[in-house]
Amino acid sequence: MHHMTLAEIARGLADKKFSSEELTQALLARIAQLDPQLNSFISLTEELALSQAKAADARRANGETGALLGAPIAHKDLFCTQGIRTSCGSKMLDNFKAPYDATVVARLAAAGTVTLGKTNMDEFAMGSANESSYYGAVKNPWNLEHVPGGSSGGSAAAVAARLLPAATATDTGGSIRQPAAFTNLTGLKPTYGRVSRWGMIAYASSLDQGGPLARTAEDCAILLQGMAGFDPNDSTSIDEPVPDYSASLNGSLQGLRIGVPKEYFSAGLDPRIAELVHNSVKELEKLGAVIKEISLPNMQHAIPAYYVIAPAEASSNLSRFDGVRFGHRCENPENLIDLYKRSRGEGFGAEVQRRIMVGAYALSAGYYDAYYLKAQKIRRLVKNDFMAAFNEVDIILGPTTPNPAWKLGAKNSDPVAEYLEDVYTITANLAGLPGLSMPAGFVDGLPVGVQLLAPYFQEGRLLNVAHQYQLNTDWHTRTPTGF
Ligand code: GLN
Repeated sequence: MHHMTLAEIARGLADKKFSSEELTQALLARIAQLDPQLNSFISLTEELALSQAKAADARRANGETGALLGAPIAHKDLFCTQGIRTSCGSKMLDNFKAPYDATVVARLAAAGTVTLGKTNMDEFAMGSANESSYYGAVKNPWNLEHVPGGSSGGSAAAVAARLLPAATATDTGGSIRQPAAFTNLTGLKPTYGRVSRWGMIAYASSLDQGGPLARTAEDCAILLQGMAGFDPNDSTSIDEPVPDYSASLNGSLQGLRIGVPKEYFSAGLDPRIAELVHNSVKELEKLGAVIKEISLPNMQHAIPAYYVIAPAEASSNLSRFDGVRFGHRCENPENLIDLYKRSRGEGFGAEVQRRIMVGAYALSAGYYDAYYLKAQKIRRLVKNDFMAAFNEVDIILGPTTPNPAWKLGAKNSDPVAEYLEDVYTITANLAGLPGLSMPAGFVDGLPVGVQLLAPYFQEGRLLNVAHQYQLNTDWHTRTPTGF
């Protein structure tokens, strides 16, 4: 049962092959048996899951249909869930029960999804390895000694290990696409504003975007359909109609112009990944796509710009965690300043504290122009590069990551080494563009992803290309041994 995709589950439920309750019970048992090896969940919500499954079965018995009606999923633990712990992977929020559901959670629940639990993540979504969680590192099901990627590593490991078919995730600089690449999944970061951020705990508000993690493009289309759309509670949400993503999957790729940026194949890229990327290009050429070399000349400046802008926004967003209103409060504070200092010092982990310091420094009066303003100018140049490229091509293709998943602990002593691994993903966030990572082969038994980027609101085009690729390749069907 656990090998089914969302699309297969929807067909099985519609054909009455099994009930949502049976499926939910089977997956909860599987999680209990296998998750201790992976640590992909922070909280399990068995009671809620079983009551949602029963309700979904009742709705189907009354003639209701829907691809998500009765589908088991999990939410990254930064989506607020009413009455359920929403920890953001932090000691700061270990005792926080959200008073309301995030829009994404509420919409998916209304569509009939069954919430199995809340998945592990890097603390406040800061990281690329899922090692900064207060609840411990997540392990990669392809090799338990390797990281699953981050910050949505819990969602990725759980889906890759077939503990559930799909999960929600968020992407500020790559946190959907990079763990998708590291665990052989398909992950989609939508256009900024496509999915509501209301009730999604903020890391860097101008970059954060929620999206689906699943095994196939077809399933990403189904989950995105339930997540996307205008939300008056989020002032950056875009009031545009949501297309039928599943209907876009079967378009022909004949004549599709794919741009491959020459800057992507620089010294930092593992040559074995470069080869797999070239193989995926050849495969798409066979399907009728036309390949063109393009240039994104400002790409080299993107990492330094991102690692100023994201910490700057984080330092502002995280100022609300002060020991007064939410989360952790220190014991016996002597005065207000002591309360702030000790609550924050005890509640936040090392990486979060580092980013708050960097961000506060970059925003300070003396350095604002030198760092923050400069980074914003680079951001505009990065966006302009993409706009120029999309005058010539329909899709941009390249590697999702420069290297496959590294060993647990390998980069712990050097945060900058970890930041550099985000080189291919962060530009889409700086520009607000949609991006998708899909499985494209293996290096040393570890999965490798290929990234596709498209113009604003062309999520359907990304899903179309990935689906056609998946109809003609079988990388995405490979299963980690032992799961
Ligand atoms: N690795 C990046 C960071 O640490 C991106 C994380 C994310 O997308 N949430 O900021």
